Amino acid sequence: AKEKGRNGFRFYRQEMQVQVAERAALEKALHSAVRNDEFYLVYQPQVNKNGRLIGFEVLLRWFSEELGLVPPSRFIPIAEEMGIIDEVGYWVLDNACQQLKTWQDLGLPASFEGIAINISPYQFAKDSFVGTVKEVIENTQIEPRLLDLEITEGMLVENIASVAEKMWHLKEHQVRFSIDDFGTGYSSLRYLQHFPINQLKIDQSFVRDLSNDPNSHVIINTIVSMADHMNLSVLAEGVENPIEKNILEKIGCARYQGYYFSKPVTGDIATQYLCGSVSF
Ligand code: C2E
Ligand code: CA
Ligand code: CA
Ligand code: CA
Repeated sequence: AKEKGRNGFRFYRQEMQVQVAERAALEKALHSAVRNDEFYLVYQPQVNKNGRLIGFEVLLRWFSEELGLVPPSRFIPIAEEMGIIDEVGYWVLDNACQQLKTWQDLGLPASFEGIAINISPYQFAKDSFVGTVKEVIENTQIEPRLLDLEITEGMLVENIASVAEKMWHLKEHQVRFSIDDFGTGYSSLRYLQHFPINQLKIDQSFVRDLSNDPNSHVIINTIVSMADHMNLSVLAEGVENPIEKNILEKIGCARYQGYYFSKPVTGDIATQYLCGSVSF
């Protein structure tokens, strides 16, 4: 047993060293990623129950020269810890709005409400956040009502006053807000009314369990009826098949996003979706 323990410890240490080395390599590569133009954006369609395109969620991709394609679930938290997330977030906002301006000039379909951009809590917490968003809107000449900022539940429970003030300020400029991954955070529902929120995005974990877990059914039902009362839209994430779509539609959720409709696509394909009046 003693032998085993010692070996176990050694393996554990080796594993730790590999992790530390990996992390260091990632941080180094991330530092140069903005400078070397290694980021790009993809766009995932959001659709209504008739299959009409109502929006795109903007998702960040990083193809590193040294590391290949690194998923955002891996590098976003590290960018946050390194303190460079607002630089990265600015790049996303600016580039997404430039793309939106191109689409705006081409002429948008009537069903299209705009693009959704993920905002990191660290990025939102900066005093300069509101000014930065207004500046990007002015520089790119987009219509601000076409901008939907996705924030998380967790952000609404800390510094309530300053978070609310920033949101109201942007709301006055027609910018919209969605709560991302709704239901996974601090689901105290009372605080929601303090903030100018337009939409709740039902987390994909509830959708995934929909056909076999009655609890998920109840949770989604509750979210939808609450949203109705509060005059909020509800969009379900991670819809992967027609069964899930149909159950959601029956429950009263009429907005969807997920692989069943489309994976995230390049700007060129997104343009085709927009201009070709594609039905999903
Ligand atoms: P999220 O905001 O919850 O984004 C949804 C994620 O689910 C995306 O993963 C999307 O590709 C994936 N997805 C969409 N439909 C389906 C489906 O039907 N099934 C399954 N299994 N997955 C689906 P992705 O692009 O890897 O992004 C992961 C997370 O990284 C995002 O989760 C978001 O939290 C973060 N992220 C992505 N881009 C940005 C960004 O520009 N800024 C910030 N701050 N975070 C970002
Ligand atoms: Ca999101
Ligand atoms: Ca989400
Ligand atoms: Ca998520």
